[in-house]
Amino acid sequence: MNPTKPDIADDHQPLLVLDLDETLIHSSTTQYENVGETFRVFNFHVHRRPGLEDFLQTVFAHFKVAVWTSADYEYARQIVKQVFPPEHSLEYLWAREDCAWRYVPELDKYEYLKDFKELKERGWNLDRTIAVDDSPEKHVDQSDNLILIPAWVGETDDDDLPLLADYLVDEVLPRIKAGQSITSFEKQHWKSSIKKDH
Ligand SMILES: [Mg+2]
Repeated sequence: MNPTKPDIADDHQPLLVLDLDETLIHSSTTQYENVGETFRVFNFHVHRRPGLEDFLQTVFAHFKVAVWTSADYEYARQIVKQVFPPEHSLEYLWAREDCAWRYVPELDKYEYLKDFKELKERGWNLDRTIAVDDSPEKHVDQSDNLILIPAWVGETDDDDLPLLADYLVDEVLPRIKAGQSITSFEKQHWKSSIKKDH
């Protein structure tokens, strides 16, 4: 992590913190058919979620964008290099070593956590910071900042990214620009709310 505190205005453009696996892409040891062009990272075939390119172009036009994954940093870096538009730069790319972890006795295992206190300490206003992730357990400490997207594992008829882009631009952005905190409104049913408007 960068230990220096950047100079971030309190009214910064909203920050979108994107997960990678099963949110934007899906990696597997076999290559799926009919899900478009894939690429290799290590021994994985990486599949892009339908609509990914347009989604990224839309969000970069309206938000500051960062990636936070609990995957390995080098794997994440290679994915970002392949799927993110080169003309835009990320605020940061954080990976497994930037996650906290907790022991979950019921499961007898450790789980990674993306702790937004790390962002707050670096000057980001959490009222204007939005997580998009398919794993709610990684956001237990800031569940009100989370827009939960169903995990994508290669379905060809998935339209969650185009819907999410519309939701972010049409519903989330105006509220934040009007001074509402991302934590102050319900986002659990975002998909049905945006589908109704279409
Ligand atoms: Mg994920």
